[in-house]
Amino acid sequence: MGSQRELQEGYRIPAKPEEYLKLNYIPDDADIVPSPPIQNGLSFPLAASEIKFLPLKSVKLLTINSDCKDVIEITLILKDENLTYIPGDTVGVIPKNDPLEVEEIISHLGLRDKLDEKCTLLVENSSENGNRKPKELPAHLPKSSTLRNIFESCVEIRGPPKKIFLRALAEYASDENEKNELLKMCSKEGSAEYERVFSSSSGTSPGFGLLQFLKAYPSCIPPVSVLLQHLTRLRARPYSIASSPLVEDKCVRLIFSVYKERDSKGVCTGWLEGFLPPVNLEEQLSSLSLSETMPEVPLFFRKSSGFCLPDDHSVPLILIGPGTGVAPYIGFLEHLSALKKDYESMKCGEVWLFYGCRNPEQNLIYENYLKNFVESGILSRLFLSFSQYSGSFDGWNGSKYVQESIEKVGGSFVEQLIDKGSVLYVSGDGMHMFKDIKEKITALIGEHKGVTAEEASDMVKILITKKKYLEDIWI
Ligand code: NAP
Repeated sequence: MGSQRELQEGYRIPAKPEEYLKLNYIPDDADIVPSPPIQNGLSFPLAASEIKFLPLKSVKLLTINSDCKDVIEITLILKDENLTYIPGDTVGVIPKNDPLEVEEIISHLGLRDKLDEKCTLLVENSSENGNRKPKELPAHLPKSSTLRNIFESCVEIRGPPKKIFLRALAEYASDENEKNELLKMCSKEGSAEYERVFSSSSGTSPGFGLLQFLKAYPSCIPPVSVLLQHLTRLRARPYSIASSPLVEDKCVRLIFSVYKERDSKGVCTGWLEGFLPPVNLEEQLSSLSLSETMPEVPLFFRKSSGFCLPDDHSVPLILIGPGTGVAPYIGFLEHLSALKKDYESMKCGEVWLFYGCRNPEQNLIYENYLKNFVESGILSRLFLSFSQYSGSFDGWNGSKYVQESIEKVGGSFVEQLIDKGSVLYVSGDGMHMFKDIKEKITALIGEHKGVTAEEASDMVKILITKKKYLEDIWI
């Protein structure tokens, strides 16, 4: 136990972690909470509200024959009148793991017939524990439940196992080669191999999850309690709210993209996609007869990051957000539109939107909606960019990326940002876009204001400090 190290062919193998979680199956008539609160009622990081169960109002596919990803819109009814949000706010959706994936995992462990049996979880502290802090049941796990509930709703089954978890699993690989491979990978010397096997991601891969692990090391059949001791808590997935609370029939609208390939689907997006009405008529009829009531989506409102409209609506806005990065801006535009209806004399500043997608024939989501905002004067200018398109499209100047659109606007962009005092918002993929856009804007300021690169960079920093340059970064 503890920090002992075993030496094996030059690899320092960490000691096997102590196993302290016990799982017992109990008789069906035993008195347990049949459906415990989500993850034992444990609050979620960044939660600004309790968990709410919002009924689905509609689910729509927004893309048309898209190549690899679809975009789906989910509208949820905000039935609690006291509950509200502001455009730019985000929610954490508490997903469920794919039931088929869960069944495959449990079947691999030989426990298929135990999946829906009642069980209890308890901690057995070893007498060798000495003065160390007694182990406790992980807070996200219920004391009593079923394996199905625990694996679907409480633990993360995607994502690579940490080395300590791998060490625990190695113990249960009956094949010597598999066992040695696992033992080596959890040593310091085996780090490169660990990275190669578990961190290799194609960019579309949802990660090396538990099921992939069990398929790659089929002789490894650990006790389910060992899995539950090491699997981390199922995380809530954040989404921007793409609606305004001011529109009639107060709702929360979310949009998200989901890969078409089953193996590439994310946990939450794959689960939410399951609410799309079936295409096939027979399936539609059977799903109608099965569900009288609309399903509910558990979520909580997250603490605001300050990515919101300025209090003074006469301040001009520059909104930049390709793909589903447009989500918060749909909320902004709806909000300004609703305010304008209520207060006709309200003066709104100019709103420019830089928006893009791959191909306007497939994934230009909210095309008509945005055009309506242009026609009603809420959106002053709409700049489109299409990264994988060579045709012609009304109002498109050939820009591939939003940065290219910004560059083409050039001096007017700088004037709008600096001289007219716009608030600039950027929302989208955190990998490269934010850096690319910041560099482009810095270069434009340098060019059009006749300042050095350093001075331009300082001007951008000042905008950020003054909250005139806001970023909503999604990793
Ligand atoms: P996407 O289809 O992958 O990309 C949208 C467009 O952005 C494509 O034309 C893409 O071009 C382009 N693009 C790629 N890299 C870029 C870069 N470095 N700079 C500028 N443009 C770039 O978009 P998506 O799947 O909707 O994802 C958009 C991002 O927004 C995700 O990171 C998502 O997490 C985030 N987001 C989501 C929400 C939400 O609530 N769901 C809210 C805010 C932001 P290519 O042809 O090169 O791919």
